[in-house]
Amino acid sequence: MQKKDILSLSFDELCKSLDEFGEKKFRATQVYQWIWQKRVRSFEEMSNISQGLREKLSENFFFQTVKIAKPQRSSDGSCKFAFALNDGNVVEGVLIPAKDRMTACISTQVGCGMQCTFCATASLGFTRNLTVGEITDQFFVMDKIAREQEGKAISNIVYMGMGEPLMNYSAVMDSIACLTNPQTVGLAPSRITLSTSGIIKNIIKLADDKFACNLAVSLHAPKDMLRSQIMPINKTNPIAKLSDALAYYHEKTGGRITIEYLLLKGVNDSIQNARDLAEFTKRFPVKINVIEYNPHDASSYKKSDRQTLDEFVGFLKKLNLIVNVRYSKGKDIAAACGQLAAKNKKK
Ligand code: SAH
Repeated sequence: MQKKDILSLSFDELCKSLDEFGEKKFRATQVYQWIWQKRVRSFEEMSNISQGLREKLSENFFFQTVKIAKPQRSSDGSCKFAFALNDGNVVEGVLIPAKDRMTACISTQVGCGMQCTFCATASLGFTRNLTVGEITDQFFVMDKIAREQEGKAISNIVYMGMGEPLMNYSAVMDSIACLTNPQTVGLAPSRITLSTSGIIKNIIKLADDKFACNLAVSLHAPKDMLRSQIMPINKTNPIAKLSDALAYYHEKTGGRITIEYLLLKGVNDSIQNARDLAEFTKRFPVKINVIEYNPHDASSYKKSDRQTLDEFVGFLKKLNLIVNVRYSKGKDIAAACGQLAAKNKKK
């Protein structure tokens, strides 16, 4: 019989498995607490569990964990981790300390299949989805380091690492359920942000599932022709339908949507682009994050110059839109958005 990943089981599934071993429900509660409260990653450490049950557990289950292959610290304080998976693949996570918060950026897939022309992860192609255990374990490993090295627990999570979270829907939702569960980490949903390139079908699903976290959409271009050029996913998920899905999402959840807009020199940074962007945001409440482009070897775009950026942002602000500029962090260690290409990926 094949061993199962215990980190991928919900509490109910764990109860069911232990019931099949003839164990009482409180044993499942104990095991669950060991994994998610005391955060152990081996059965030997579960000291109040009988030797017999520990053996039975290790015959049937394993921990599909992530292990730090390589930490790198940036001069601005952010820290990038290459995580080695059980099968030898590598994904990346980033810890971003700030005065009032400690943010973890986590990955949801090995590589990515969206082919966005400006993103370094795209050059890897798509290998596989991460399991729920591999997604949550990135949090646990980085949280331990944050506590030990910065004296601060992780307060916020952004699903903005490698991969498209909405192409790994059920594992991503299960990981959010785990991280917001008061029995485990108990993070408030308002402290979690999921960023998507705009997978319409699953934005609608988020709405129907009453998603309680924050939703960010990587728009980057407000018109179909341009957006399809820089984000091929737009060819099958066009702007009018994306807009309908976001309006529906707002109607169902009441949530405000963050629009991410990466400024690429001479490509999407004109005042006409800003006007079109403002037009796009009329149907639902938004916050716009204008993002400075991080150059990398896999693409030839350039970042917009400062004056263009200021004029673009100024135009939007005059319309009373909420706009923040995201100057990139972790540039010197290639941890910035779109640079998580895991150069040390094993073949
Ligand atoms: N697939 C998801 C999440 C990962 S990307 C998504 O597309 O939203 C996280 C953010 O970084 C996205 O807004 C993405 O468009 C942006 N990004 C990608 N490449 C970048 C680059 N070179 N410079 C700055 N931001 C980039």
